[in-house]
Amino acid sequence: MAEQGFDLVIIGAGPGGYVAAIRAAQLGLKVACVEKEPALGGTCLRIGCIPSKALLESSELYIQAKERFAAHGIRVPQVDVDLGVMLKRKDQIVQTLTKGVDGLFRKNKITRFQGQAQLAGPGRVLVQSEKESVELTARHIIIATGSKPTIPKGIECDGKRVGTSTEALSYNPVPKHLVVIGAGYIGLELGSVWKRLGAKVTVLEFLDRILPGMDSEIAGDARKIFEKQGLEFRLNTRVTSARTDKDSAIVECEGSESITADQVLVAVGRRANTDDLGLESVGLQLDERGRIPVNPHFATTVPGIYAIGDVIAGPMLAHKAEEEGVACVEHIVTGYGHVDYNTIPGVVYTDPEIATVGKSEDDLLKEKAPYKKGIFPFRANGRAMGLGQTEGKVKILANKETDRILGVHIIGPRAGELIAEAAVAIAFGASSEDLARTCHAHPTLAEAVKEAALAVDNRAIHI
Ligand code: NAD
Repeated sequence: MAEQGFDLVIIGAGPGGYVAAIRAAQLGLKVACVEKEPALGGTCLRIGCIPSKALLESSELYIQAKERFAAHGIRVPQVDVDLGVMLKRKDQIVQTLTKGVDGLFRKNKITRFQGQAQLAGPGRVLVQSEKESVELTARHIIIATGSKPTIPKGIECDGKRVGTSTEALSYNPVPKHLVVIGAGYIGLELGSVWKRLGAKVTVLEFLDRILPGMDSEIAGDARKIFEKQGLEFRLNTRVTSARTDKDSAIVECEGSESITADQVLVAVGRRANTDDLGLESVGLQLDERGRIPVNPHFATTVPGIYAIGDVIAGPMLAHKAEEEGVACVEHIVTGYGHVDYNTIPGVVYTDPEIATVGKSEDDLLKEKAPYKKGIFPFRANGRAMGLGQTEGKVKILANKETDRILGVHIIGPRAGELIAEAAVAIAFGASSEDLARTCHAHPTLAEAVKEAALAVDNRAIHI
């Protein structure tokens, strides 16, 4: 069997793995990256963040043309969806971006292996493909194999009528009735896409609220807005089974009648991808949730083996994995590398978008931390009025004594872009006074952030 030596072998070419590979190459390491899929980019680029955002944008434009253009005095006699074109556009974006990662690998002289990687003892990785088996040796190995959808017991995913986000990126035709299991990120984003395109969408959620973990005031606002858009929520509903039955799917829930749908989207969370990795060959044990335990420098209990991204604890977010990839590699090479977990934003790309960074009000109440809050609604923001998107608000939470910003939560137009300012503010230890005294261009949505900072001290100007 052929054998090749590297400084670093990375298993998985998702946002964690490919970014770590590029940073390691920049720092002078001889790097190999093993990926089993033909395309690089992982879940995020191939079947996650990127294709879902393409569909969210297309479906939102459709709704704007259909329902909102008239208010701007634009008459469009007839608006139709060409689903084939919409899906093809999404696929082309995926192709361009995944090919882009190929290009970045070539530019940075990263050796790419396609095949299933398995640890074969300390410092050894076996790569098996249909064509050949190669053994790689390396001083350092990073496991960045990501996650896959959790399928609860009783749910029979056949990929036809009952499936995950992967299938929900390509339904054709538009389902008449889509049942979504789970009111988290995926359920709300993809539920919104198909609702806009004409499906009846029923979201079944086990808890008594949507978007668990997010600030509950903002999540409550979101629920009302999504209900107005026509999403039907059934909370406190535990799904016990879902299966395909001839030309439909049947979903059963504890204590209520079964529901028939043409498509079921299972979106109840994801779990670490550690199957067939050969962890036993190096004696690596998983934690109680099947994740790989690491120290603050992403080192596992086995010298020379590291893990980053969705396979370790923390939010399953592409940008979290990227930060960890960079910090892990920098620590290996320079002895320093750090991720500030308090400044990792979360964004739900619905309409309106929902974005959050730092502590939620629920967190602060639980910790009994002294805090003050400032809120500013987009209905009092001139730019939001011009856009015709006045729903939502900015909420800033700051320490009651020191005024240091603890958390920022936004529901409203372009919240996903606005949150970047809040993340920088928190990273720099800013006070709400710092934000309030920073000049924000007029008229912009960002003025709502400044006004919320002023509102922390009860001195917002426009409300
Ligand atoms: P999630 O954890 O966001 O939400 C899952 C929901 O399913 C929860 O509300 C949970 O209470 C509910 N649930 C669990 N079991 C259930 C049952 N039997 N019946 C009914 N409801 C049940 O998970 P997700 O939406 O699947 O997303 C998976 C991961 O992907 C998340 O960690 C998320 O961070 C990530 N993601 C992020 C983005 C983004 O950043 N925009 C988009 C998509 C996915």
